[in-house]
Order: sequence, then structure tokens, then C-alpha cells
Amino acid sequence: MTGRGEGEAPAEVARATTEAPGAVEGVGAAEGSGAAAGSGAAEGSGAVEGVGAAEGVAQEPVVLYEVAGSVAVVTMNRPQFRNAQNARMTYALDAALMRAAADDGVKVIVLAGAGQHFSAGHDIGSPGRDIDKSFGRVATMWWEHEGRQGAEAWYVREQELYLGMCRRWRELPKPIIARVQGACVAGALMLAWICDLIIASEDAFFADPVLRMGVPGVEYFAHPFVMNPRLAREFLYTGDRMSAARAFEVGMINRVVPLADLDAVVMAVAERIADKPRFGLALVKRAINQAEDRMGLRDAIDAAYGLHHLAHAHNALTSEDHLKGQDARSMARSLKEKP
Ligand code: ZN
Repeated sequence: MTGRGEGEAPAEVARATTEAPGAVEGVGAAEGSGAAAGSGAAEGSGAVEGVGAAEGVAQEPVVLYEVAGSVAVVTMNRPQFRNAQNARMTYALDAALMRAAADDGVKVIVLAGAGQHFSAGHDIGSPGRDIDKSFGRVATMWWEHEGRQGAEAWYVREQELYLGMCRRWRELPKPIIARVQGACVAGALMLAWICDLIIASEDAFFADPVLRMGVPGVEYFAHPFVMNPRLAREFLYTGDRMSAARAFEVGMINRVVPLADLDAVVMAVAERIADKPRFGLALVKRAINQAEDRMGLRDAIDAAYGLHHLAHAHNALTSEDHLKGQDARSMARSLKEKP
């Protein structure tokens, strides 16, 4: 977690990497080991750290895991790439969340991003982009995308990595609080939206600019549910940034606080929730998830997912690639345009 002063650090902080064995680049083919990441919900950190050490892989863990009292803090840790989510990070996130789910001492989870930004979204341009690699399957029973052709490769990959993972994490039976600062763009929205609460700093902003790629919004198409449908149209049609203040005003996020207060407020809210009965919390979370699904969330996302892949396939047939030739740089540029 970023920005927390030493003085505020809890007495007992267990800090460990949550690198899934297969998620460590250079270890070799990730076949099978990705499954270990998923099933290794309760893997001790020692075992996880041991893998990287044994292979002589000296690199920063892409996800950090800390426990402070009964709150687990899961932090995306690719700040040099604005926490762009490659598959390696996605599986490490999954391992961390499953670890928190399985830990009886953990009542509430905080999802954060190291550095200036929560996340710039899915990795479409960092040196660690690993779109062609497989890390096993934990969220769905769709087969591996590696080596597949055409629409199939993209469809099954995004079923697992984007839609499947988001749905899996949304069902985690403990409250999750998204701690958002800086950019929360495209694929990052999905992460924030599957959290129970979103607490943002005043500098935070939200945007889904993927229509620029010809694609109708990110894979987890919750836009008309997290804001009203008319605002969702504007948000998607323009692709413009929505400020934290505006996001609060329209009900998409719970609180906006100065950046300097963000950690303290997030932890205070987490602790306020954590003193409630574990099973009761899980049941009320389930009740709200079910209510959202009965309001149409699940069906709407399934319907939009088909359109999303029609767009990817159309791009592949008519332009340079599935992303209509856009890359991280062009997308970042678009967000700087003044509306
Ligand atoms: Zn996609």
C-alpha cells in the first residue's frame, strides 16, 4: 500500500509476495502451474517466495499482500507501468484474493495500486505484456487461448482473464474495498466495480475510452448499473474522464477524500466493517450481488460480451489488429484531449 506512514503501520504486518509460481516470467512454460496459483488459495507465502528464489528470479512481485489486523491489503505493484494488468498480474491478484478469502483472520480486503495510479487498465503495451502466454485456467472451463486462431483465441482468453476473473472475485464472500488514486481507466474500472465499496482520492479519475478501438466498453459491462444509463452513454460515447467528485455525485463511488487521508479513511472504513459478524457480512454481500443480478447485471454483461467480441473480430478483419491499431500511447493521449 502506498503512502502509509511508518507511524500508522500496524504492529503486525505480514508482508509477502503473492507471485504464483507459473506467473514468474522466466520460469518456463506456465502449463499447469497457473492452476497451482488458483488452487493455492491458502499457500503459505514461504512456499510462494521459495519458487522465485529457487529459480533465481530477482524481480519485484507484481502484487503485494499485507495483513493489518483483520484487513488484508492486496496491492497491484507495477507502478512503472501504471499498474497495467498483464496476465501475470491477474493471476497473482487471483492468488492474493484467494489467500485472503481462505484466511480466517481476514474479514475485509482492500484492493490498491502502488504509485500514483490505481491502474491504467489491461496491459496493451508494456514490456511485460504477455497476451500470448497461458497461465492455466482458474476462473472458467474455457480451454487455453494459446495457439488458437481468429475470434476463438480472443473470446476464450477474455472469458478467463477478464470476465471470468471479475465474476470470480465479485463472488468472494468477504467485503472488498477499492482504494483508488490517480487513473482508474478501462480494465481498471472492472476491478473497482467488482469491489463492494470504492473510496477514492480527490485526484482520482475514471474513464472507459475503448470505443476509440471500436469496442463497446470493457468486458465487464457494468456501466449502466454503476451509474445511470444516460450518464453511461455519455461516459462511453465520449470516453472522457469522470472526476472523483463527479463519480461520487452520480453514486459510482462511496467517498472522496484528500490523497493524504486516503489510507487512513480506507482502513477506518475497513475496520468498521470488520467488526461485524463474518457470516452476516457474507450473506448481505450475497444478497446485494443477487439483487444486482436480478436487476439484470449478469445478463446485460453476457449480452455486451458478445458484442464486445463482435467488435474485436470486426477489427481483426478490417484493420491492423483486434484493437484497431490503438496502443497504450494513443489511448493515453486520447484521455488528455480536452472535452
Ligand atoms: Zn476485449
